[in-house]
Amino acid sequence: MDALTKFAPRPSGVGEMFQLLRDGRPRTRADLAQVTGQARSTIAARVDLLLASGLVAPAGEASSTGGRPPATFAFAPSAKLVLAVDLGATHARLAVTDLASTVLAEHHEEISIAAGPEAVLDRAAALGLKLVEQAGRSSKDLVSVGVGLPGPVDHDSGRPMNPPIMPGWDGADVVAHLQGRLPVPVLVDNDVNIMALGEHRSQFPDVDHLLFVKVATGIGAGVISDGEIRRGAQGAAGDLGHIAVAGGGDAPCRCGNTGCLEALASGRALAEALSSQGIPARSSADVVRLVRAGDITASHVVREAGRTIGSVLATCVSMLNPSVIVIGGNLAEAGEHLLAGIREVVYRRSLPLATQHLRVVGSRTRGRAGVLGASAMAAEHVLSPAAIEALIP
Ligand SMILES: [Zn+2]
Repeated sequence: MDALTKFAPRPSGVGEMFQLLRDGRPRTRADLAQVTGQARSTIAARVDLLLASGLVAPAGEASSTGGRPPATFAFAPSAKLVLAVDLGATHARLAVTDLASTVLAEHHEEISIAAGPEAVLDRAAALGLKLVEQAGRSSKDLVSVGVGLPGPVDHDSGRPMNPPIMPGWDGADVVAHLQGRLPVPVLVDNDVNIMALGEHRSQFPDVDHLLFVKVATGIGAGVISDGEIRRGAQGAAGDLGHIAVAGGGDAPCRCGNTGCLEALASGRALAEALSSQGIPARSSADVVRLVRAGDITASHVVREAGRTIGSVLATCVSMLNPSVIVIGGNLAEAGEHLLAGIREVVYRRSLPLATQHLRVVGSRTRGRAGVLGASAMAAEHVLSPAAIEALIP
């Protein structure tokens, strides 16, 4: 810091004032002075800083009762970029978005997460910079990165914690590794949490209590309460897959227990069940293909899986009282059979007060929930009051 900037008056509170503009509605300086109760000169200085940063842009003139109409200002989400990275066991989906999660460029490719953090994260960083270029923008506009990983993550440190399907990633410093290539804040969470966030922010922004359930090779959930992701004490909240199902018997689960939801109703479990009945299926995707082709046994098995998932979700409904349950993950693509089974049991096994306005719906974001959520997580981080103060020169 040189002598001049060190002693220049720095109007604090610019980050707080920016929060008033985040809804995108155009406001005049007088509007802001009225809402904050602050002096017009203070407001004018803060607006100037935000205008200079590009985060706020002129939005035309307000109507006037006479004299020169006052200028209005609004949040300009296109001013900056975030990189959203959704990593699965075998896929990577990346998007460069603006601060409102509008996708400007995206890319999807097959990867192997087992290649380890260095190889996978280097590739993600390189692809990210290429996408920034494709969007016709400069890497200087990139202000944060959001990453979703297919395993448990300590959100505060961004490190994966004993991830079962990510060999070589346990405790890896994902943040430091990416920051070596992209020197901006990096936020990391597990894939189901970012899918929940993506579905919520893009499709259900006005719903305060939402449960997102991913039904694929495994089963997990993301919990949105009071509009925010709830991770729990160790980031393990929403791990539905290993809840014991009543009457689950001795079906072995990869966690070492028996009778877990995942051992009975995941795509992997259904593929095994069908194979044992002489209908070859190796994966969740095979099960979906069979249902779509009209296979009656596969449809029956998927509906029964829905009922089993519904029995666990009925307990969640009693605990959390969500108003929307979104079912995502590739098994949800099997169509109405899964949803019908879930609805049947959730509505029967929950109290009327909890289900009065409850909707159980399929994911509307399709494959994009992860990148939309990673984008929202990264954008929300840099738009917080403290981050805005740091962003303003
Ligand atoms: Zn288990």
